[in-house]
Amino acid sequence: MNNTVTKPANIAAIAIHGGAGTILRSAMNTAQEQAYHDALNEILGAGQKILADGGSALDAVACAVSMLEDCPLFNAGKGAVYTHAGTHELDAAIMDGATLDAGAVAMVEHVRNPILAARAVMENSEHIMLVGAGAEAFVAQHGVELVEPEYFHTEARHAQWLRARDKEGMLLLDHDATSQAAEIAPIDPDDKFGTVGAVAIDMHGNLAAATSTGGITNKRVGRVGDSPLIGAGCYANNRTVAVSATGTGEAFMRTVAAYDISARMEYAGQSLKEAAEQVVMDLLPRYKGRGGLIAIDAQGNVVLPFNTEGMYRGFAKVGETAVTAIYK
Ligand code: ASP
Repeated sequence: MNNTVTKPANIAAIAIHGGAGTILRSAMNTAQEQAYHDALNEILGAGQKILADGGSALDAVACAVSMLEDCPLFNAGKGAVYTHAGTHELDAAIMDGATLDAGAVAMVEHVRNPILAARAVMENSEHIMLVGAGAEAFVAQHGVELVEPEYFHTEARHAQWLRARDKEGMLLLDHDATSQAAEIAPIDPDDKFGTVGAVAIDMHGNLAAATSTGGITNKRVGRVGDSPLIGAGCYANNRTVAVSATGTGEAFMRTVAAYDISARMEYAGQSLKEAAEQVVMDLLPRYKGRGGLIAIDAQGNVVLPFNTEGMYRGFAKVGETAVTAIYK
């Protein structure tokens, strides 16, 4: 089935996120803030250009997320967090709202850009999700770049992992605020979610969503969160909405958070704003779910709600100046 609906050209827009959490304004210096704004602006600009040139929402979100993966400021691709064993296990998903085609990878350890691997699964296999070594072998056959695990290493994440490992039983959620990790954002060490994502609508009215993550610092080997699960951390449907989430993955899985927004819109007639607010501010907190999401609906409305102190985020409509933000 094709969900394509013809829309006016000026509807095209993209939104991105780089994780939510207790992002402490007091601990963030001007240079750090600027680095985040610059990265978000550059990536939004690239997505905007694709959309302005008539490119697809799918191309825009894949490009934006691969740039977020390449940027060590964010917990995906280069700069991903460490597992309990001191390794990296990366997860990603992508979805095309026009066709409901989707692709995902989980627990990959050698894929430079997991979002491109997810797209390769979507476009070249009859499956939706491939994991581990099988995923790597398959995507390599389709031209996706593999790297040695050292590629993902950053001093800051390594120091963060050592601290988490030393505090037994503690799972750190991405960046933290201590001096050992000074080059990444000052954030409460117990309270930062990483993950990156993008959602877009193109000038043909097609929606797409993409999400990529290193997961949670010190996570158990083999743990997979919401990010690569269609409907939990990533969802797109031209009839309703495109969503990419970040936060405590298990709560987003239990509530099927991304799809729940779509279902509220489709079956209960809620607006994007109502649906997103209720999921982020009411439903998720009932299951200790902390984090946020970005979403664009089929009319081009954009929301970026979160229930934490901050979320790295931004959006850009074609032909308009991009807007980026970190705090509430
Ligand atoms: N949702 C991601 C996960 O649970 C983590 C995050 O967003 O930081 O793997």
